[in-house]
Amino acid sequence: MFDIYNRKIDYIRISVTDRCNLRCIYCMPEKGVQSVDNKDILSYEEIIYLCENFAKIGISKIKITGGEPLVRDNLAYLIKKIKSIQGINNVTLTTNGILLEEQIDSLVKSGLDAVNVSIDSLDEITYKSITRIGDVNKVIRGIDKTLEYKNIVVKINCVPIEGINDKQILDITKLAKNKNLSVRFIELMPIGLGKKINGMSEEKIKKIIQENYGELIVYNKPMGNGPSNYYSLENFQGKIGFISAVNHKFCNSCNRVRITANGFLKTCLQYNEGQDLKSLIRSGKSDEEINEVIKKTIYNKPKENRFLEQNCCEKLEQNIMSQIGG
Ligand code: SAM
Ligand code: SF4
Repeated sequence: MFDIYNRKIDYIRISVTDRCNLRCIYCMPEKGVQSVDNKDILSYEEIIYLCENFAKIGISKIKITGGEPLVRDNLAYLIKKIKSIQGINNVTLTTNGILLEEQIDSLVKSGLDAVNVSIDSLDEITYKSITRIGDVNKVIRGIDKTLEYKNIVVKINCVPIEGINDKQILDITKLAKNKNLSVRFIELMPIGLGKKINGMSEEKIKKIIQENYGELIVYNKPMGNGPSNYYSLENFQGKIGFISAVNHKFCNSCNRVRITANGFLKTCLQYNEGQDLKSLIRSGKSDEEINEVIKKTIYNKPKENRFLEQNCCEKLEQNIMSQIGG
């Protein structure tokens, strides 16, 4: 379907949990996280029901996210069910990769199309200083095992932070030289704990890469569902992408909406606007009524983020990223 600004909305990110087995400094506090009550988390049946409705209005691509999606039991079951819905042709996953090695076989069997793995450093100590508790070796083993499946598209997500993992940018980039995957550098967004941390600009990251690996050559062919700008590097198997929602915003071509783990249909990351679909489902509203609400909510998707404006607006998102489903 098209929204009020004539953008085609065909992609939804579904958060299946707000829980996580890591505590990344820009995403979750070390202690005292308020988790959503289990009874308020959408059941798999509710998620499948919503996906059937999304498919009816033209959503064809689904990303499973969280929190950490692989901490939820039997995710492969959900993926298999979503993949079988008529009209849904692409189901992908964003994970921190800690549990990937043990789950990738069943995920692939369920029909998963692609995996994005978030890894901010290849160095054990730096990785732990960001995730607080993670073992980077588990993630690397998960990536390598996933790469054995030639039909699964693998992308790496890295959020560079000044003074913390900036020295790791080259090693992360080099993954795309030696392995059949692409690397994307994500600009830190001022959401939740991200407000207190300094990310790095796309320009600065590009300079570091070009000084060491040569010219980044613009790559224009489609590479997935998202807003990343991709580049090639000579002798690299994979591409290098940049997603810079703050300083290079892509709102005029935004194709996505989100569902939080507790069933809130969220139309832009920065704002708390949207619709509580869980309450509608649980109050017994008809399929037609729910479908109308979904269409109306998506139609009114905000025009753009205003991250660069101080105190820009009233309806700002107050949740942390693991609760939103980044
Ligand atoms: N746990 C999974 C993971 O880490 O990939 C999925 C959820 S996580 C919220 C999704 C992505 O959002 C990760 O790549 C993470 O690095 C990114 N992220 C979290 N907080 C962010 C922020 N403030 N700005 C930019 N990216 C952020
Ligand atoms: Fe967990 Fe992902 Fe947030 Fe890190 S970025 S704390 S892995 S949800």
